[in-house]
Amino acid sequence: MSDKHNQEKPWQAVRTEAMEHLLTVAGIIEPGRVDDIVHHYEKNVGPHTGARVVARAWVDHAFKQRLLQDGLAACAELGIGGPETEFLNVVENSAKVHNVVVCTLCSCYPWPILGLPPAWYKSSAYRSRIVREPRRLLAEMGLDLPANVTIRVWDSVSEIRYLVLPERPANTGHLDEAALAALVTRDSMIGVARLSSPTTGTTQP
Ligand code: FE
Repeated sequence: MSDKHNQEKPWQAVRTEAMEHLLTVAGIIEPGRVDDIVHHYEKNVGPHTGARVVARAWVDHAFKQRLLQDGLAACAELGIGGPETEFLNVVENSAKVHNVVVCTLCSCYPWPILGLPPAWYKSSAYRSRIVREPRRLLAEMGLDLPANVTIRVWDSVSEIRYLVLPERPANTGHLDEAALAALVTRDSMIGVARLSSPTTGTTQP
């Protein structure tokens, strides 16, 4: 790799490539293994995976109870799981309680359920402000919660990841599970957004 080639890349990319090369030379990983993993989390797994879980919880009360009790075991019922999540704590929103997830230390996120985290989730501004002034930051992100809604902020760690179970929007009684899943956004499962009713466009309180 030439110096000119390296100069065109951020230092993080150069360091990552160097580590990958060393691990390959040492026989610790197979060539292309890292690419396979990145491709899997970029293409195969994403917010649509978590949306399936949420929609199932909305239509199947017994599943929802199992999900709230042991998130990972319930996800496994749907064939969902994988590395980077040893324990999944699912937290349910209601009219009076709003949950939001952060990793104050770094960027821990439920990869097998939501895919890779968005860039803002890893920013120091989000990681600090969502703890210090969650209501104000959520409002800046477009979620203006009424004063009587309690905000709970959950701090992820490497062993424990969180998934917000958003409220089912109003006027969705006629929708099947797949149509419900299509309503669920990534941000609603992190907790920086609530879901709109498909017919009125209004968000839940
Ligand atoms: Fe982390």
